[in-house]
Amino acid sequence: MSKTNTKKASPAATASKGRPRIDPEICKGCELCIEACPEGCLKLSVHSNSQGVPYAEYDPAVPCTACKSCAVICPDCAIEIYKFESGV
Ligand code: SF4
Ligand code: SF4
Repeated sequence: MSKTNTKKASPAATASKGRPRIDPEICKGCELCIEACPEGCLKLSVHSNSQGVPYAEYDPAVPCTACKSCAVICPDCAIEIYKFESGV
């Protein structure tokens, strides 16, 4: 089961402040992170992990604010957030 993420990127977000790294082998495809992301950066992959589960992935076309909401809500700690250095 998969569904399309229809959230729109925030108009104020013009550039990513970071990005999530999602471990596809830990992800169980619960979609909690997708629902939690205020920017709509996340979606279920069309690919599956070794357990046959479609995993969450980052859509680089949508700027990530590095708010960590996805990482906090993930029950399996499958997400790490990398913040970009400012001023570069
Ligand atoms: S919340 Fe965690 S386990 Fe659930 S889809 Fe997102 S990364 Fe996967
Ligand atoms: S850190 Fe925030 S903006 Fe970035 S993918 Fe996670 S929930 Fe979305």
